[in-house]
Amino acid sequence: PYVGPTADEIFRKRKEFLSPSMFYLYKKPLNVVHGKMQYLFDENGRRYLDGFGGIATVNCGHCHPDVVQAIINQVTTIQHSTILYLNHCIADFASALAGKLPGDLKVVFFTNSGTEANELALMIARLYTGCQDIISLRNAYHGNAAGTMGATAQSNWKFNIVQNGVHHAINPDPYRGAFGSDGEKYAKDIDDLIQFGTSGHIAGFIFEAIQGVGGIVELAPNYLPPVYNSIKKAGGLVIADEVQSGFARTGTNFWGFQNQGIVPDIVTMAKGIGNGIPLGAVVTTPEIAKVLTRRSYFNTFGGNPVCTAAGHAVLKVIERENLQENAHVVGSYLKERLTALKDKHDIIGDVRGRGLILGVELVTDRKLKTPANTEILEIMETMKDLGVLVGKGGFYGNVFRITPPLCFTKEDADFLVDAMDYSMSKL
Ligand code: PMP
Repeated sequence: PYVGPTADEIFRKRKEFLSPSMFYLYKKPLNVVHGKMQYLFDENGRRYLDGFGGIATVNCGHCHPDVVQAIINQVTTIQHSTILYLNHCIADFASALAGKLPGDLKVVFFTNSGTEANELALMIARLYTGCQDIISLRNAYHGNAAGTMGATAQSNWKFNIVQNGVHHAINPDPYRGAFGSDGEKYAKDIDDLIQFGTSGHIAGFIFEAIQGVGGIVELAPNYLPPVYNSIKKAGGLVIADEVQSGFARTGTNFWGFQNQGIVPDIVTMAKGIGNGIPLGAVVTTPEIAKVLTRRSYFNTFGGNPVCTAAGHAVLKVIERENLQENAHVVGSYLKERLTALKDKHDIIGDVRGRGLILGVELVTDRKLKTPANTEILEIMETMKDLGVLVGKGGFYGNVFRITPPLCFTKEDADFLVDAMDYSMSKL
């Protein structure tokens, strides 16, 4: 049993000593003291099914024994910076990771977070092309440092900083977008932006194959191939931000971008790469990677032995436990069941996503698509009381985000949907 401070005690300290901008889910914030695979436990020993996996970070499951063991083995052997000496962990993981990427994507730079990975990717694109202009999609989230906040395109995450030469293209959002699911029509806006908003030459285009923070928006089909061609014509690099959609989560493929059949020039990743351990990476081609030899470049802790040992263990678990296949099978089943709920509850406007990155958008009027952003809080609260945790997001805060650990089972999926069904009925 847990003997540490209570939720109230922690909350009091947090209010006094931590950032006033920190937010939390639920009326009374949950004190999570223990995790095991797809479950979390609070201070009273109450078990919750984790349908959010800490925002897609815990792919293998909480405290997966193989990952924990790899961390313990490494931290009791040697932990150090990556700058000065050789260590096999970083080299072994880089080669295993490169093996998971298509084409010539073979050179890995490690970072400590997704923001750092995207900052580096944007800089590489600017150095390689000699251009400043970056195109990102409206509703995107790419990080919160100077460059990435510019690329992020939702006002609620943006402070009043310089935009840094970023242009935001129309989001190919099949549910709310003007062109529905017609990816090619949205792609035309990229051409227009290049023609009318830049010199005709750009540094690059950055996208999430499935927008996570933005509310699980899967880019309209047939969008990326024409965009890829437009970016290439303008001399730019294509950057796939796989922080949420990567690492087998979509089920059909290991990386989200593969679902639209393109091969980007740069891929960035974080979150699920380390099963909860701070780690991020940028992978690109040997030719593009060379731009960083123009000056000295390093990252003190990016790719340190403990984090890369964890990352390598994660890759092995994903393979050994067939987690990609599981994401596909359980995710398809879960999506089917959520879609069926739509017939019963008018509040569900849209069910979308792929594998185990799914979204349920709530509206008070299906025609007007009015965001049900107070109702969602009530449903979420009831689901928590029933022992099921899900996430929330989207620009209007009205989309359930379901991104559980990839070890989620069909029984878990049933429990989650039944809890959502009941909670919606109670509204
Ligand atoms: N890219 C995407 C797609 C993300 O969802 C996030 C985090 N929500 C980031 C980048 C930034 O990652 P981090 O918080 O690790 O800096």
